[in-house]
Amino acid sequence: MKDTVNQIAASRDITLEQLTRLLTTDDRETIQHLFDTAHATAQRYYGNKIFMRGLIELSNHCKNDCLYCGIRRSQQGVQRYRLNQEQILDCCEQGYKLGFRTFVLQGGEDGWFDDNRMCDIVAAIRRQYPDCAITLSLGERSRDSYQRLYDSGANRYLLRHETADPAHYARLHPSEMSFDNRMRCLQDLKEIGFQVGCGFMVGSPYQTVETLWQDLQFIRSFQPQMVGIGPFIPASGTPFADRPAGSVETTLRLLSLIRLLHPPVLLPATTALGTLHPRGRELGILAGANVVMPNLSPREHRKDYSLYDNKLCTGDEAAECRVCLDRRIRTTGSQLVVDRGDAPTAKLKVENLLN
Ligand code: SAM
Repeated sequence: MKDTVNQIAASRDITLEQLTRLLTTDDRETIQHLFDTAHATAQRYYGNKIFMRGLIELSNHCKNDCLYCGIRRSQQGVQRYRLNQEQILDCCEQGYKLGFRTFVLQGGEDGWFDDNRMCDIVAAIRRQYPDCAITLSLGERSRDSYQRLYDSGANRYLLRHETADPAHYARLHPSEMSFDNRMRCLQDLKEIGFQVGCGFMVGSPYQTVETLWQDLQFIRSFQPQMVGIGPFIPASGTPFADRPAGSVETTLRLLSLIRLLHPPVLLPATTALGTLHPRGRELGILAGANVVMPNLSPREHRKDYSLYDNKLCTGDEAAECRVCLDRRIRTTGSQLVVDRGDAPTAKLKVENLLN
C-alpha cells in the first residue's frame, strides 16, 4: 500500500477507494510512510520552519447557532465578552515582542464589530505593525464588507467550509445558515485578493468517508493558501454534547493527505489536536503541518472562548505558551520562526517542482 501513497503524492489526486483504504488500514508501515512523505513534502517547501500565528479571540458573542459550537447563540452559561480596540492592540503589542508577525483576529459573528469598527481596528494594527500579516476569521459577511476589510489592510481570511457536502452541512447547522452562502463567501474572499483558508472538523457528526473525500476534492479545486482541520470535540450543552470526539489518528492521516494533495498549503497543527493528545501538535508537524496558532487573548477571557470542552492552554500567559511551544517544536527537529509565513510565491512553487 506504500505505492498508493506514492501515487497520491505524484498525481496530487486521490480516489474514494484509496481514501477509504488509507483511513481504515492498520498497517503501521504504510501510515508511517504517509506521515514521512507528507513531512518531507512540507520541508521541501518550507524547510524546518514552523510559523506561528498569534490568535486573538476578540468576541464570543455570536448570532449563529451551529449545532457543534460551544459559543453558539443559544448556549447557556457562557460569560459573553468582547475586546475593545485598546485591548486588541495590547495583545498585538505583547505578541510582537514575543516574535509574532501574524495576528489572527477571530470571533463569533458579532454585529457589534460592524465594518466601521472592524476597519478602524484593522487600520490601527496595519499602521502600528506594517511588517505583520493581519488574518481575520469573523465568519460570513457581505462581499462589500470583505472588500473594505481588505482595503483597510487585512491580508488573510480563515473561513472553514465545514463540509463540502451540502446535505452534511445542513445537518450541522440550523436552517437559516446556508452552504451556498459559505461557498459564496470563500469565492468572494479569493477574488478580492485575500490569502484564504478553508477547512473542516474531523469526526463531526454524520461525517463519512464520502464527505471527507468531497472535502479533499474541494481543497484540490479551490486551492486555498491555508487549510485548518482539527478533530471535532463535543461541547457540553450543545445538541452534539454526547457525540464522540473525532480521532487524533484520522486527523493526522488527513493532515498528511492534504499536504500531499496541495503541497504548498499552510497547515496548522491545531489546538483541538493538542487538546485530545498531549503531543498532538508535535504529531501534526511530523505528519506534514507547518503552522501553530498559540493564544494571545487576555487570560481572563480565554476560558469564555470555549468552542469545546477542556480546551488547551486557557490558563496560560501568552509568553508561557510561546516558550512551551518552542520546546515542543524543537523535539520534532523543526524550529519556530519569527516570520510572517506567507504562502510561497508562484516562482518558488515552480522552482520546487523543478527540483
Ligand atoms: N465565526 C467564525 C467562523 O464561523 O468561521 C470563526 C469562529 S468559529 C468558532 C471557528 C471554528 O471553530 C469553526 O469553523 C469550527 O470548525 C470550529 N469549532 C467550533 N466548534 C467546534 C468543536 N466543538 N470542536 C472542534 N472545532 C470546533
